[in-house]
Amino acid sequence: MKIICDWENCKEQGVYKAPLERDNSKRYRLLCLNHIKIFNKNWNYFENMNDQEIEYFIKSDLTWHKSTKKFGSSENFFNVLWNNALEDKLNIFKTSSFKEFKKAKMSQTDRDALQVMELNDETKWEQIHLKFKELVKKYHPDKNQGSKKYEDKLKKITLAYSQLKKTLGKK
Ligand SMILES: [Zn+2]
Repeated sequence: MKIICDWENCKEQGVYKAPLERDNSKRYRLLCLNHIKIFNKNWNYFENMNDQEIEYFIKSDLTWHKSTKKFGSSENFFNVLWNNALEDKLNIFKTSSFKEFKKAKMSQTDRDALQVMELNDETKWEQIHLKFKELVKKYHPDKNQGSKKYEDKLKKITLAYSQLKKTLGKK
């Protein structure tokens, strides 16, 4: 039995997982290739949060300790995000679809995000993406004998990356 793409009026086969919630949720819907591309391009972790909430989220240590699901579950939000970014099978991180920083218009949240990622405001999208891959590989529990000691750091990096993707992604 084939699963049909969950996108409205789509009849293609649904084979790609799209998370339904921000948290470490196992809930997702299945989409076809075309629709997962659209989903990944538009999906934004920070949607419906104001700047203050986003800033709090990035800075707050408390946020990270609410998680009840085991870190490393192949279906949780962060894994979906990492896998999308690391593998980029869908080719959604093409440089051409991102703009450069306009320094005058940079928000404090963007500056914080760059700092978390050990980058400066000269950085272009391509370098942000490469740096993200580098940091995820460095701090991922799989690369540290399953140790969760870098969990908070890794989550902050992931959120910072999401923030920069939001700022630089062309609408
Ligand atoms: Zn579809």
